[in-house]
Amino acid sequence: MKDEEILTFRDTHIPRVCERCGKRDPEYKGVGEYRCAECGYIMYDDFGIVRNYLEAHRGATQSQVSQATGVSMETIRQFLREDRLEIAANSGVYMACEICRAPIRSGKYCESCAKKVALMKEESKPSALKNQMKGFGSTHRGDSGSMRFKR
Ligand SMILES: [Zn+2]
Ligand SMILES: [Zn+2]
Repeated sequence: MKDEEILTFRDTHIPRVCERCGKRDPEYKGVGEYRCAECGYIMYDDFGIVRNYLEAHRGATQSQVSQATGVSMETIRQFLREDRLEIAANSGVYMACEICRAPIRSGKYCESCAKKVALMKEESKPSALKNQMKGFGSTHRGDSGSMRFKR
């Protein structure tokens, strides 16, 4: 049980006890917000903290948010990748596409790279690979062979 608690804590810093009165297990209210059933104190996990900060500071960069909230850049990026956080259209905050580094607002890839990735996945399917082999002759395989071995 102890290990499990540490993992959860690392993940999103879910409040386990009320910071004001110490009552256990605050009630989850949604979007990273927790409310103590005893005294009504409102607490936030990492997601709630980041979300609040961004609502108050539109246009903040990821590193500004991280410094101000103490939530790691890694966690903030994770929220963006999971589409839990969305970068406001007028904020000037961007993430980089994992392939071409083009600015994007959520997810992992820009629109054109997302299409390429989908295509690549399609091509790496066994049936598609077979078709490719049929299309290209043995000379092609020879070419790639000479690239591989340096003599
Ligand atoms: Zn309380
Ligand atoms: Zn891209």
